[in-house]
Amino acid sequence: MSKDPIILEDRKSFVLLNEKKQNNTIDCEKDSVSGAVSQRACVYCGARVVLNPVTDAVHLIHGPIGCSSYTWDIRGSLSSDEENYRNSYSTDLQEENIIFGGEKKLEAAIDEIVETLSPKVIFVYATCVVGVIGDDLVGVSKKKSKEHNIKVITVQSSGFAGNKKDGYKAACHALLSLMGEKKKSDEKDFVINYLGDFNLAGEAWIIKKYLKEIGVKTNVVMTGDSTCDQIENAGNSQYNIVQCAGSMTYLAKQMQMKYNIPFEQVSFFGVTDTANSIEKIALLSGDEAIMEKAKALIAREVDKTNAILDQFMKRLRGKKVAIYVGGGFKAISLIKQFRDIGIESVIVGTQTGKKEEYKKIRDLTDEGTIILDDTNPSELEYFIKQTGADILVGGVKERPLAYKLGLAFIDHNHERKHPLCGFVGAVNFIKEVDLTVNSPVWTFINEQGGEGYEQKELYQLERQSL
Ligand code: SF4
Repeated sequence: MSKDPIILEDRKSFVLLNEKKQNNTIDCEKDSVSGAVSQRACVYCGARVVLNPVTDAVHLIHGPIGCSSYTWDIRGSLSSDEENYRNSYSTDLQEENIIFGGEKKLEAAIDEIVETLSPKVIFVYATCVVGVIGDDLVGVSKKKSKEHNIKVITVQSSGFAGNKKDGYKAACHALLSLMGEKKKSDEKDFVINYLGDFNLAGEAWIIKKYLKEIGVKTNVVMTGDSTCDQIENAGNSQYNIVQCAGSMTYLAKQMQMKYNIPFEQVSFFGVTDTANSIEKIALLSGDEAIMEKAKALIAREVDKTNAILDQFMKRLRGKKVAIYVGGGFKAISLIKQFRDIGIESVIVGTQTGKKEEYKKIRDLTDEGTIILDDTNPSELEYFIKQTGADILVGGVKERPLAYKLGLAFIDHNHERKHPLCGFVGAVNFIKEVDLTVNSPVWTFINEQGGEGYEQKELYQLERQSL
């Protein structure tokens, strides 16, 4: 395989070599370069993954059937009650609708949904083709809201109109339009909203359990295991805490303006960040009893968790990891989490990281670390080989690349089936890292298809056919 870098000229400013003496920066928060096979999804997908865990809403995709393949399956958020969100509805636009307009089909779909499911809220997602043909989604939504006396909310998410991050913003606007007025409250407890946890494998339940133990009430998790009623009531909480910064900081800022609710960033990935975040929330409450309970919980869980982590660490020390995840804040948490278990991050990339997050990544990682914004499989492959990474952390799109390279893989994406957050998650995480990186399978794969495979006949034939 070619050892030459496969970085397009236009992509070079999105790739950074961490050289501590040079104050060089990385390009980010821009649309993908054409032809670079970005691993990012579209605007619609960004909106869908954020809104989908609203469990009692109906999610109606106005567009061709293909867009609706982004379903519950790609974000396996768990629900404690309603199951509406697990189904996907589409207007299934055909050629005729694209020529003559699809508004009638949308109206008919809303009528049918109301008749058969009687939902309180319908989210209507715009897709690429709808943006092109110019169907009046807002007009239809208003008309149908009035007619059926329910909330029909347009999500402005035409796939081409920006990148995945714009989809997060569209979802935040939809959530804001669902929120009601702030009420006068005689609530004595410290009540918070927990933003940016999608309850993958029940992760929001783990965090809510910690908060309950220290005496903090959670009003709504946006949008993990959330209901329309809880979201309507979100303006009445005292604080917003934000885990997924990429998708929810915008909402937190909007809520600060609208309801005067301050917000604070937290992270529940890894022992250190989990302990610090629980302590931070306790301090925000200003309540001595909550602070005492938090201290006790942290002391108990940190000791217990570290005792387990210690058993695995000797098997992992010295390994190298390549990280490629959605948001910058998650990447920062992962660098710290890997460092805590003796693993160095040699590549760190994100799909939607911000300038300040990349600065933090640069400060946290060692000299020589490769930092990548909105990367693609060719670049990842090249840098993985160059740095000799032993593990790749990513999502569904990176898994085949890791396996083809004979590399251990950790799924930190939306469809995973076990929790990786909190103290429980820290244990699951190290077990998964150990299981994959120390698996005997890599010795066989490396013999068969790894180093040396490039010389083999089948490989040569594959290359010639390209
Ligand atoms: S909205 Fe556009 S880019 Fe997104 S899945 Fe549909 S067609 Fe593809």
